[in-house]
Amino acid sequence: MYASLKRIGIKYIILGFLAAISTSVIVVGALILINSSFRKNSIFISSDSTTTSNPTTLLSPTEKPNRVKIILTGDVMLGRSVMIEAIEQEDPLFPFRKVADVLREVDLVFINLENPIIKDCPRHVGGFTFCTTYEIAEGLTFSGVDVVNLANNHSGNYGSYGINETINYLERNEILATGVGKLVTKEVNGTNFGFLGFEYVFKPSDPEHLELVKKSDSTVDILIVGVHWGDEYKDTANQFQRNLAREFIKNGADVVVGHHPHWVQDSEIVDGVPVYYSLGNFVFDQMWSEETKKGAIVELIFEDGKFIEDRLIKTYIRERGQPEFVE
Ligand SMILES: [Zn+2]
Repeated sequence: MYASLKRIGIKYIILGFLAAISTSVIVVGALILINSSFRKNSIFISSDSTTTSNPTTLLSPTEKPNRVKIILTGDVMLGRSVMIEAIEQEDPLFPFRKVADVLREVDLVFINLENPIIKDCPRHVGGFTFCTTYEIAEGLTFSGVDVVNLANNHSGNYGSYGINETINYLERNEILATGVGKLVTKEVNGTNFGFLGFEYVFKPSDPEHLELVKKSDSTVDILIVGVHWGDEYKDTANQFQRNLAREFIKNGADVVVGHHPHWVQDSEIVDGVPVYYSLGNFVFDQMWSEETKKGAIVELIFEDGKFIEDRLIKTYIRERGQPEFVE
């Protein structure tokens, strides 16, 4: 009796001991899990984390965000003495020689094209009727330009003939043209980008444009609106630009980029949306003043379809029609 009681006692002691061991295994395991998940989260919480382990080893490749880099530029005019200079240099790519490398590096480049592209474009250095040849327009492909805005006061300089020629040339070279009444889209790394272009140089604002912005917004992830507007040779945006930018944003624009004033104007963030009122001249032949030789391009970074950061890079047209980057 006593012996069997003693056996039962030993049995309970052993069982109790085993239970204690398994409980501590569970507790220690849970502590390890909590600790590792905290360390994983800490990568996102703090960029100056003091953790000694290499953060990249904790992220599997599928967890990397889908990153897209975009460059926006101001006015690109490949006619008049920009064209003459390239011909004299015997280099059709002369206007883009010093900037193409940087433009080619990013996923998407969106410019304002201020001239029609026609095969019989006459050579001239003066006047305000712009055009360029197929040969000089090759600089667009050379620089990796993806989308051009044609909603401006010069794309119609050769009437509907010039517009059609330009659109055909761009199509043959796989460059999208916006600003002619419809949305164009391009998908990069799983994010669908949409581009629209509008002109208000000689035109008032139009409720149909806002309708198009609203409709387009529902079909893309990021909507970039190019706008040709503002006062020439002024360094700050006017009230019309500021009001209209807000209307675009209310209707779904995710980026607003302006051109036409030939000077770089101010930028602002409105409800989280970057607005660049004017990026000035990128490729142009207005060599008669310092401000018209200065320009800016914007590099935008998106991750998983969200705007992360932007960087303004200054440019300067040192030789006729040829921009370069400056500090
Ligand atoms: Zn213009």
